[in-house]
Amino acid sequence: MKVVIIGAGVIGLSCAWYASKKGFEVTVLDSGDGTDNCSWGNAGYISPSHFVPLASPGIVAQGLRWMLSPTSPFYIRLKADAALARWCWTFYRKANATVVARNAPHLNQLLGLSRQLIEDIARELPVSVGLQTKGCLMLYKKETTGHHEAELAREARMLGWSAEVLSAAEVQAMEPDVRVDVLGGVYFPQDAHLHPGSLMQALRQDLVAGGVTFLSSNEVTGFNISKGKVEAVNTGESRLTCDAVVLATGSRLAHLEAGLGLSLLVQPGKGYSMTFGDQKSRLYHPAILVDDRVAMTPLGADLRVGGTMELGNDDGSINMRRVRPIVQAANTYYPELYLSVPGPEDVWHGLRPCTPDGLPYLGKVPHLQNAVVAGGHAMIGISMAAGTGLLVSQMLAGEKTEIPVDGFRVDRF
Ligand SMILES: Cc1cc2nc3c(=O)[nH]c(=O)nc-3n(C[C@H](O)[C@H](O)[C@H](O)COP(=O)(O)OP(=O)(O)OC[C@H]3O[C@@H](n4cnc5c(N)ncnc54)[C@H](O)[C@@H]3O)c2cc1C
Repeated sequence: MKVVIIGAGVIGLSCAWYASKKGFEVTVLDSGDGTDNCSWGNAGYISPSHFVPLASPGIVAQGLRWMLSPTSPFYIRLKADAALARWCWTFYRKANATVVARNAPHLNQLLGLSRQLIEDIARELPVSVGLQTKGCLMLYKKETTGHHEAELAREARMLGWSAEVLSAAEVQAMEPDVRVDVLGGVYFPQDAHLHPGSLMQALRQDLVAGGVTFLSSNEVTGFNISKGKVEAVNTGESRLTCDAVVLATGSRLAHLEAGLGLSLLVQPGKGYSMTFGDQKSRLYHPAILVDDRVAMTPLGADLRVGGTMELGNDDGSINMRRVRPIVQAANTYYPELYLSVPGPEDVWHGLRPCTPDGLPYLGKVPHLQNAVVAGGHAMIGISMAAGTGLLVSQMLAGEKTEIPVDGFRVDRF
């Protein structure tokens, strides 16, 4: 079976990994060279602890407060755009306890499956992807945040994950090389992290060695559909016949919706990261600075710091007004790191593919026999990539999926 995967981000590569294991003839198309996407410079967390969807109770009020500040970790670029307006309205409607209670178990299952599979992938790859199974710290400075995090820890335990509520002294004991200035934290020991760029490189090399074809600089513009089947994928220059197609185009998922007769709600959520080389004071654990929504990831001797969500912004600009607070937050929680704000040329940006209910799209296109959508993983695409890849390969093979996928239906809005 000839499978064409559109998108060489972590989702496309994970689908290619499992599809080629099933013996399919796989071609991966990308409009770029596969490095200019959201999957390269992110924080690299594999976080089963992130089972609460982005659209959660309280987030709308918090988001509106943040919207008024030019330095806040969340911002919506308001513009006359019907798709953005529809996305925001749906997000508003989904951000309630009932929807979260319904969606969190779906996320939890996909996160759990992926957490298990990523260790197998890392073991099978011939080079290291820097996978560390040291857990993750959620750190806070405000008492109200502490209550919220303790509640999340309780919910995580109910779902079967370990979560330890820590005092400031206990957090400090876990980071003997750097001073940590927090009120407390929660430790999720089953979280892990890796070097996302190394994962992307290693996956691609191994897929090429295994016979997968990569076609770079091939922007897909449409499809040839006949009798309920996609027969070919069209790029500006060529037409590629196929037996099945997987749409894994990240934040640009909706660009091809019309060609497949779909209506997908996806908005880009721009975020930034900076990597500080050769740190003398090392963090032992990745940490999320919860009050400021900043992620800290030790990557060998380097330290990556990332954050911010600028919704609806898909240009390549670097907004230093939102970059500076990320570095400032890191220096406030870890006062002896003395990180300086880099120039815009040293800031990486990525566009998270955000859906309004916080669940990815993962399923067959209802009216087509051979088209699967895999995207919209928002802030946790690295964490859910392995499971997504396995499930997509099972759908392509017409097998029963490892976990139920109904909650991720592509026509759910
Ligand atoms: C600052 C930041 C930190 C993050 N940290 C984490 C983290 O710690 N853990 C985690 O799990 N997630 C994290 N994420 C989220 C994660 O990076 C994304 O969820 C994930 O990379 C999305 O992968 P993707 O393959 O769907 O999209 P992408 O990586 O964006 O790949 C999509 C690909 O499709 C291609 N494409 C698009 N349209 C077309 C077309 N028409 N034709 C051909 N090709 C096309 C693009 O060129 C691109 O290469 C973070 C994101 C950001 C911004």
